[in-house]
Amino acid sequence: MSQGKVYLIGAGPGDPGLVTVRARELIERADVIVYDYLANPQLLDWARDDAEKLYVGKRSGMHSIPQDEIEELLVDRAGKGLNVVRLKGGDPFVFGRGGEEVSELQIDKIPFEIVPGVTAALAAAAYAGIPLSHRDYSSSITFLTGHENPEKQTLSIDFTRYGKSEGTLCLYMGLGQLPRILKELKSGGMSGDTPVGIIQWATLNRQNSVYGTVDSILDEIEKSGIGTPAMIIIGEVVARRTKTEWFEGRPLFGKRIVVTRAREQAGQLSKLLSDQGAEVLELPFISVEPHFEEQRVTEVFAGIAVYEWIIFTSANGVKHFFDLFYKAYDDIRCLGPMRIAAVGAATAREIQKHKLKVDLIPAKANADALAEELVENEGVEGVQILVVTGNQNRESLVQRLESDEARAIVDTLPLYKTTKTDLANEPAAERFRNEGADAVLFTSASTVKSFVDQHAALQLAPDARRPAFGSIGPLTTKTLKHLKLPVAFESPEASLEHFVVETIAHLTA
Ligand code: SAH
Repeated sequence: MSQGKVYLIGAGPGDPGLVTVRARELIERADVIVYDYLANPQLLDWARDDAEKLYVGKRSGMHSIPQDEIEELLVDRAGKGLNVVRLKGGDPFVFGRGGEEVSELQIDKIPFEIVPGVTAALAAAAYAGIPLSHRDYSSSITFLTGHENPEKQTLSIDFTRYGKSEGTLCLYMGLGQLPRILKELKSGGMSGDTPVGIIQWATLNRQNSVYGTVDSILDEIEKSGIGTPAMIIIGEVVARRTKTEWFEGRPLFGKRIVVTRAREQAGQLSKLLSDQGAEVLELPFISVEPHFEEQRVTEVFAGIAVYEWIIFTSANGVKHFFDLFYKAYDDIRCLGPMRIAAVGAATAREIQKHKLKVDLIPAKANADALAEELVENEGVEGVQILVVTGNQNRESLVQRLESDEARAIVDTLPLYKTTKTDLANEPAAERFRNEGADAVLFTSASTVKSFVDQHAALQLAPDARRPAFGSIGPLTTKTLKHLKLPVAFESPEASLEHFVVETIAHLTA
């Protein structure tokens, strides 16, 4: 069996945009991905669907997997000939026990490769606008750790030795031991006026920072409620930070906004909001899974030439249909010369990806309008029609086509199932319940309905932020009002860009 390889990769400080091109390439190819607490799980979106993804970090209330077990895991998977990506927050060789993992791999003669990452000190400094070195104020930069490892509670460094440092100190894992560390720095000669900056969750839209001096910072921490993970930067350069806060100063920074993930558009809206600094919670109200009878699919495909029309009622249906079709045939001509109808533009676009023309899209994008136009304009009496669908919204379409007046011969091919997502275990929903949000943005009547429908799973904790409800346009507003939800603002035009501008205006007024 061929030997696998272990790639020890720096996952950067949090923002997925801050990993290397090499890291992304290797994540995309990996058979196995082993990741921990500080590696952003969004990086896994790049992985293959069938890659094994193993979380080995700490979970609330539980210990993390012991280091020797992680090492065994890497050796085991690589020994089976698999390509293993070991993702570690920041850089793997900076307070990440990367050295220990590599030693173990060498003992077991497992080939490895190391990909550096943006370490937290560099990221926090850049995102807070602190120049770590400065010709006039600091010509050395020291990386220090408050704990030698998170499990060990004792200080491993004599901080009095750094009290006379003229340069910048960057302290990892230091928050818990900070009172003692500051005391030692002062007894080693550091002035109580030395500036200190603390940056939590650097590079993410929930970044939080607090500033003070060696003497005042503990009070500031208490007032601000800042927590871990945090980078502590000590030195004159902290006072030389940029006046404009390029990251935390963006219009929606510090705002938490909920959007629904059901529609294709959600990703685009999230990106626009996130670029303006907002922390976006995407709530997945529905999940779509393949669901079909193999026998039925085989029968339909075998007789596909008999159909004069094939109707697609959703983009999902198109995707699932062609996934199955290409598994059965490797020539698009096997589809036959039927005509094709799509319920709306998004569905049509999905069909056109296969270089197939769509013969009918109803003026109004719904299944009833589609049936009506087929019956009225095409005449369907005695015509064999295949309807490709999910488990919902097909009855009235089929009834209309089979009605005494229309008399089509209709077969349906259900390929997927739409179910309500169980929000009880969704991290985004949990964050919403516990901490609330500044706004919930609705982009359609159906997103409003899903929200109301999932009301029970979205009950806010007593001290959670109460969100304002924003609507993309008059139709959505009507649904909100109908369902007795107060509309705080409405976009002047029904486009995502206008909606974002209106959201900024409302939340920053
Ligand atoms: N290998 C990592 C460090 C792991 S030690 C690296 O190179 O960055 C974990 C410590 O790193 C945390 O306790 C915190 O001090 C720091 N850290 C990691 N990510 C951070 C972030 N996004 N913001 C602030 N500090 C962070």
